[in-house]
Amino acid sequence: MLLIEGRGNDMFELTGKTAIITGASRGIGKAIALKFASLGANIAFMHVGDGEKAAETEAELTAMGVKAKGFECDVSDYEASQKLVDEIIEEFGEVHILVNNAGIVRDNLILSMKVEDFDKVISVNLKGTFNMTKSIYKHFMRKRRGRIINISSIIGLVGNAGQANYASAKAGIIGMTKSVAKELGSRNVTANAIAPGFIKTDMTDSMPEKAREAALSSIPMKRMGTVEDIANTAAFLASDEASYITGEVIRVDGGMAI
Ligand code: NAP
Repeated sequence: MLLIEGRGNDMFELTGKTAIITGASRGIGKAIALKFASLGANIAFMHVGDGEKAAETEAELTAMGVKAKGFECDVSDYEASQKLVDEIIEEFGEVHILVNNAGIVRDNLILSMKVEDFDKVISVNLKGTFNMTKSIYKHFMRKRRGRIINISSIIGLVGNAGQANYASAKAGIIGMTKSVAKELGSRNVTANAIAPGFIKTDMTDSMPEKAREAALSSIPMKRMGTVEDIANTAAFLASDEASYITGEVIRVDGGMAI
C-alpha cells in the first residue's frame, strides 16, 4: 500500500494550503471545511446570517489544529466579496483553493414564481460564484496556481419543475466553470464543478415529504447522499492528484441523473 508521508494514511494532502469556502457555517460547505482541515488546510469561510453556527464551525476547525476563521459576507455583493478576499489574503497569506458553495433555493412553478425570487437565486448562486472568482482571479494569476471548485447541482444538468431559477443558476455555474478553466488553464489554475444529487442538509430537510419521497425513489442507489460524499470529491479536486483535471463536472448523485 502506498503511504503518503506527513499525515498517516490520508490519501490527499493539503498541509500548508489555504482554502476560502463560501457558505461553510453548515451543510455541505461545513463538511468540505472539516475535510480540508483534516487534510491540513487553513480555512477562511463565509456565511451570511447565522453567527452562532459559524462560531461553532470556527471552533471545531480551530480545534483540529489549523488556522480557521468565519466571516460574515454576502457573496452576492461584489464590493464586499472583493474587500473580504483582499483581507483574507492579507491575514492568511497565499490562498490556494476557492470553493464556491454558498447557495439558496426559492422554489415555485414559473407561473407563481416572484421575479424577486428569480433574481435572488441567480444573485446568490450564480453571481456570487462570479463575484468570488473575480475577487481571487488576479491572486491566482500572479501565483500561477490555484484551484476553483464550484458546487453546482444535477438540477443544472437535467432541470426540475419548480426550480427554474435554481436550475438556471446551477447550469450557469457549469458554463462559468468551463470558461474559467479555459481562461486560466495556462496559469496552472484549474476550475471544476461538482454536481451533487439529493444530499441530506437543512436545504433538503425543508422539502415537503412527498417531494422527498419522489426524489428518493428516483435514485438508483436508493439513499440520499451525505455531506461527506461531496466533501471527499472536493478534497480530490483540491489535491495534487487532480492537477490535470479542469473544466470537468463530477456528478455525485448515486446515479440520480444517469
Ligand atoms: P444549506 O445547508 O442551506 O447551507 C447554505 C450555506 O450557504 C450556509 O452556510 C449559508 O450561510 C450560506 N449562504 C447562503 N446565502 C449566502 C450568501 N448570500 N452569502 C454567503 N453565504 C451564504 O445548503 P447545502 O444543502 O449545504 O448546499 C450547499 C451548496 O450545495 C449549495 O450551493 C446548494 O445549491 C448545493 N447543492 C445542495 C444539494 C442538496 O441536496 N443539499 C444538492 C445539490 C446542490 P448561513 O448559515 O449564514 O445562512
